[in-house]
Amino acid sequence: MATKGSAFRAEVNRALCTVCAHCGTAIPTEVGHAHPLDEAVRRQTWGLVGDSDGSPSVFATCTACFDAGWRPSGFVRLSA
Ligand SMILES: [Zn+2]
Repeated sequence: MATKGSAFRAEVNRALCTVCAHCGTAIPTEVGHAHPLDEAVRRQTWGLVGDSDGSPSVFATCTACFDAGWRPSGFVRLSA
């Protein structure tokens, strides 16, 4: 079932952007979709699940903030 040369490429989905929950940097919304290339290319968006209001929600986070150790309040886990 594996397909070579997927038609779904990042540049096609340029409209699918969000901002980092911490610093506000624009980052691609590619969290939650397992993609073979994500393992080879360092991912730019980290979906961190926090629990700020008593219900879990996903906070999109850029690599810089992720590497710096920032986590949303009530951080539980990575969403993907
Ligand atoms: Zn950030």
